[in-house]
Amino acid sequence: MTKVLIVEDNEKNLKLFKLILDSNGYESITARNGEEGKQVAEENMPDLILMDIQMPILGGVDAMRALKMNEKTKTIPVIATTAYAMKGDKELFLEFGFEAYISKPIRIKEFLETIESVLKGAGSGQKE
Ligand code: MN
Repeated sequence: MTKVLIVEDNEKNLKLFKLILDSNGYESITARNGEEGKQVAEENMPDLILMDIQMPILGGVDAMRALKMNEKTKTIPVIATTAYAMKGDKELFLEFGFEAYISKPIRIKEFLETIESVLKGAGSGQKE
């Protein structure tokens, strides 16, 4: 079963993402901040990570960078999930190194399609 790690400090979002994933054939595991996310990722080696940006202790950009610098976790794709909806933000997050970007509030169809396309390696943030 495809394992997805949800790193999110907002309980409502966390529960919603988990519910959607669990009811669509994924196994989901969770972490409440970037630091916990790094640990859970190393211990459980998920197939994909959904990473919130604004979180206490360690934010999503720094957590993603740490994961990409870690030999063990560097190949795990990381999707940024954020409430930012400014024009150009998507490009910025891809530049940071995320494989894709999902804006919140999410739309379920788009949420699942983005996850599927990244898992297939067809994400828009193809690595050079
Ligand atoms: Mn947050």
